[in-house]
Amino acid sequence: MPIHFFPSGHNCLNNAIIDVRYCGICPSDVSVIDNEWGITKYPVVPGHEVIGDIVAIGEEVGNLSVGQTVGLGWHSGYCNDCASCHSGDHNLCGNAQATIVGHHGGFAEMVRAAANSVIPLPQNVDPESAGPLFCGGVTVFNPIVQFDVKPIDKVAVIGIGGLGHMAVMFLNAWGCEVTAFTSSEAKRKEALQFGAHHTLNSRDEKEIAAAGGRFDYIISTVNVKLDWNLYLATLKPRGRLHFVGAALEPLDIGVFSLIGGQRSVSGSPVGSPATIAKMLEFAGLHKIRPVVETFSFDSINEAVSRVREGKAHYRVVLCR
Ligand code: NAP
Ligand code: ZN
Repeated sequence: MPIHFFPSGHNCLNNAIIDVRYCGICPSDVSVIDNEWGITKYPVVPGHEVIGDIVAIGEEVGNLSVGQTVGLGWHSGYCNDCASCHSGDHNLCGNAQATIVGHHGGFAEMVRAAANSVIPLPQNVDPESAGPLFCGGVTVFNPIVQFDVKPIDKVAVIGIGGLGHMAVMFLNAWGCEVTAFTSSEAKRKEALQFGAHHTLNSRDEKEIAAAGGRFDYIISTVNVKLDWNLYLATLKPRGRLHFVGAALEPLDIGVFSLIGGQRSVSGSPVGSPATIAKMLEFAGLHKIRPVVETFSFDSINEAVSRVREGKAHYRVVLCR
């Protein structure tokens, strides 16, 4: 029998409560803490890479059971009634509930979420390092599926941080020839260990220019402005430059390089519940495991500072 202790005033019937065991810290948590995007609602309880056990479910919940180990990402609820939700694109729902905006996230002991945003963790995925898969992981996996990236494609990842190192792992396992663009000489060797076949300096104009016309697909995970026209020139005709890194500066892109080679520029947010489940299955099968540093919840301020200073190697996870 499910236990019932939902806060009053909520639609409890479709909700689940997770007892948090691990929670990744994403730079987006810091962006919300600092109200960098102008969407923050204080008081903030950050944490949207949550792993824990279900301790309560509402009467109408059919996909979860008490005691099950699950994860929760950027969204903790959807309207379930718009064209996007009806198409399975819940992550594009205009009324989706962000886990850490106007809702309390995984830095708490327990988190409440709509059951269809809570995804069971497969047995072959390690819970300690799985949190980052629920935000960063699905963010880089989702466009592979959305834009039909093929195993015969030559692809590139710009920025080898939390998202970037997982993107390299996923794209390698997908079968692609992977180039890692990094601004850090020290990370070049590690990028090769994650599965990159080549590395290039993301800030070296000559190295980038020498890769002209090489890639079918590039994913940018950086949150800074780079010379995007240089990167567009590294795409083959019909190639795509895809943004998931939340750079605040507007893109400054010459339209002729889009027109001439019929190239595309795009962006996407996280992934739908169905895509998160597929991503977890794929990660389990291919033994994709984010590289994490763990901190206890008692050291939360130190852990957040490490992310804020860009020192995470490659993702920080809080651990109970
Ligand atoms: P991260 O671990 O800090 O990695 C970002 C990487 O960007 C760095 O490791 C670095 O890679 C590169 N970089 C930083 N400053 C740079 C500079 N000045 N010049 C060149 N490269 C630079 O962050 P993350 O967890 O991967 O997150 C990246 C971004 O994605 C954030 O903006 C986050 O908010 C966003 N995000 C978006 C979604 C979405 O749904 N679209 C979801 C989650 C996160 P190198 O050291 O290799 O150069
Ligand atoms: Zn995130």
